[in-house]
Amino acid sequence: MNFFDFHCDTIGECYMQNKHLASNDLHIDLQKSKYFEKYGQVFAVWIPDEKRGEAAFSYYQAVRDCFYRECAENAEKILPCKTAAGIETAFYAHKVAAVLSVEGGAVLGGDLEKLDALYRDGVRLMTLTWNDTNEIGNGCFAENKGGLTAFGKRVVQKMQSLNMLVDVSHLNERGFYDVAEYTDKPFLASHSNANIVDNPYAKARNLTDDQIKVLIARNGLIGINLCADFLGNNGQTGADAVLRHLSHFLDLGAEQNLAFGCDYDGCTVHPSLNGLDKIPYLADFLLQHGIAQNLLEKIFFKNGYRFLVANL
Ligand SMILES: [Zn+2]
Repeated sequence: MNFFDFHCDTIGECYMQNKHLASNDLHIDLQKSKYFEKYGQVFAVWIPDEKRGEAAFSYYQAVRDCFYRECAENAEKILPCKTAAGIETAFYAHKVAAVLSVEGGAVLGGDLEKLDALYRDGVRLMTLTWNDTNEIGNGCFAENKGGLTAFGKRVVQKMQSLNMLVDVSHLNERGFYDVAEYTDKPFLASHSNANIVDNPYAKARNLTDDQIKVLIARNGLIGINLCADFLGNNGQTGADAVLRHLSHFLDLGAEQNLAFGCDYDGCTVHPSLNGLDKIPYLADFLLQHGIAQNLLEKIFFKNGYRFLVANL
């Protein structure tokens, strides 16, 4: 099978724990990529909310260097990709197509020119906020419920002029609608579920029906998150919970807009799904529970790949 995933924290964990992509005890390593004919993975550099200004940028640089070092050390298996053509090259050579992203616009430290530096480095997607407030706007758990700042509006416009994907996962609601207003190209929620889980944590972080409809109307993309907290309550966070979210998205018309953003190595995942090697099981479960093969192919691969080809 083929698989394209839009969010993991694996490279940050490799950096922090001095582990390697080739083989490790994390959710993702290159040995587990053997389950897929074509496998694309967006690798995020997560910027913790405590890191601000130059500290945020130098932390980003260190993890970025780790990403390129790990790709170079495993060049026979993985290729860093900056363009749609690069992704195609990787697949043709039977390598993992690796796309670099940053999770947390605090990396810019309020400096618009840092976006050019990120783009030169190969960053092709940026999640505007993490959970708290930064110079761009406010995350879903921030006290400030306001939308994008004036700087944030300039950031999303410049990102789209660079063909850097604007990611609204973690962003609060006002910020989401500001992105919709101040951009004209498609944008995405790389790792966000539907607002059908009844706990305050999931309610703030997941997408409302109206947000989902906006993403669909804008030809956007939604990556289903396997994080237990956002899938369900009381251990109801396995493949059946994924099916529940997926069905909700489909009911709203997201057949062309659904993908995965598993959040591997960034959160707690149900034991039945806790690693890249569990993805074939998830696909099989969904197939057994009424999701047609051609729809599965769209969600696990084709929608995301098409989105990148159209927008990178
Ligand atoms: Zn995240």
